[in-house]
Amino acid sequence: QLSKRLETAASYVEKGARLADIGSDHAYLPCNLAQKGLIEFGIAGEVVLGPFSSAKKQIAASRLEGTVEARLGNGLEVIESNDRIDTITICGMGGDLIARILDAGFEEGKLDNVKRLILQPNNAEMKLRHWLTDNNFEIMTETILEENSKIYEIIIAEPATEVSKLSSEDYLFGKFLRSEKNAIFVRKWESEIQKYEYILRSLEQSHRDIAEKKAEVLRMIEIIEEEIK
Ligand code: SAM
Repeated sequence: QLSKRLETAASYVEKGARLADIGSDHAYLPCNLAQKGLIEFGIAGEVVLGPFSSAKKQIAASRLEGTVEARLGNGLEVIESNDRIDTITICGMGGDLIARILDAGFEEGKLDNVKRLILQPNNAEMKLRHWLTDNNFEIMTETILEENSKIYEIIIAEPATEVSKLSSEDYLFGKFLRSEKNAIFVRKWESEIQKYEYILRSLEQSHRDIAEKKAEVLRMIEIIEEEIK
């Protein structure tokens, strides 16, 4: 049984995909999809030995050695061209790290045959959206979900010859998420406002010259309030 977060990410993997799950930890996501017969082949990529061993154990315990392979390596370097990987999932890491992993892999041609990226950043979604559009990946859809009082965004992107133009608000909030503006989205950004208000109060108590920083935080609060009002 996958967590709601991983289940949602997995639901965007097309039937018959050849999947690389990078930072797979226990390989739950590829094993779950393989057990349901939904992927043709899966790689569980891990850079750390402990999680890599967990992935191997999980694959063996699920008797999926023929379909899912655990590989030890940094980011997309575990992907070989004859794996014919067409889908990549990267979940549960910072958006900055995900962007760096994609960037390094892009340079090495690891994304050349990839048809879909399914990304679940824990933060820095804006940075990731910028990486995607800067590198000709169109954001096809996005979703937001809540599990155990935590809110997660999932971004689905596909290669394109030309990508749609996004506004600064689209980068920050997500074009699809802001157009739907559901209750979870509003909750997320209300809680971001609270974080900025806390920063503001701390700044007001400091003795340094903080006018510029204060203006920046106030501007963020304004932008968010405008978005969710
Ligand atoms: N994807 C799983 C999930 O969402 O539940 C596990 C997330 S876990 C918080 C992040 C995993 O990514 C860790 O197991 C870590 O070892 C792995 N990781 C971090 N940087 C990585 C990299 N550059 N390449 C491959 N794996 C990486």
